[in-house]
Amino acid sequence: MKLQFIGVGAAIKTTHHGASAVVNGHILIDTPPACNALLRRYALLVDTIFITHLHGDHLGGLPFLLLEKYVDNNMKTLHIYGPDGLEEKIRLYFEAMFSELDVVKYPIFDSVRFHVVEPEVEIELCGLSVKPVLGRHAITSFGYVFRDDNVCVYFSGDTELCEPVLEAIDEAHCMVIEGTKKSGKLATHMTVEELLPIVRSYPEKMFYITHRQDYDASDISEHNLFFPEEGESCDVEHVKVNFHA
Ligand SMILES: [Zn+2]
Repeated sequence: MKLQFIGVGAAIKTTHHGASAVVNGHILIDTPPACNALLRRYALLVDTIFITHLHGDHLGGLPFLLLEKYVDNNMKTLHIYGPDGLEEKIRLYFEAMFSELDVVKYPIFDSVRFHVVEPEVEIELCGLSVKPVLGRHAITSFGYVFRDDNVCVYFSGDTELCEPVLEAIDEAHCMVIEGTKKSGKLATHMTVEELLPIVRSYPEKMFYITHRQDYDASDISEHNLFFPEEGESCDVEHVKVNFHA
């Protein structure tokens, strides 16, 4: 399974773009405000999107992605998976930001299919299964466990450290996991300090920290803990990870 980090930042207090990643070159996880420009920068053509939750730093780029698809007359079906209320929220974004683009008059949604996800109900894609894992956040928030014939990768989305997160870590070989701050404990989010004992207890697993506010992690050196930058990618194969800077 191939991962590429499209942004690694939190909502605020960061010099990074919002956290987003692409699986196997065509499946996007979350649509932060800059994602449309970043997908273009890395020449990625997305046909499937998984949204973790309906906060703006994970969703704010989706109207622009749909607008560009419409303007390009790209009729290829785009499948968007996410929590209940996602489609209504995107229609409200259009009303608020482009009130003249009446979505009834302009068929922006014609080639878009929204799918509501349910906790633990797996979705089968070409060669992959995807399991939504309910986290604990300010609103309903899912992580996703992607599995192919070889490996299992867990994307946490925004969440506190809680039982479903620990179970997903136990199941997966590789985590793309939020570490909003470096130290302490946060309501609705996780910190690197909280994650470190878990990282050390699974030395054979890889942990990529994303959704980061700006902090200096240069004093943290675990062989299986990484702080990826935008654009970096890795191939996850049989637990062994080849990292491309
Ligand atoms: Zn959030």
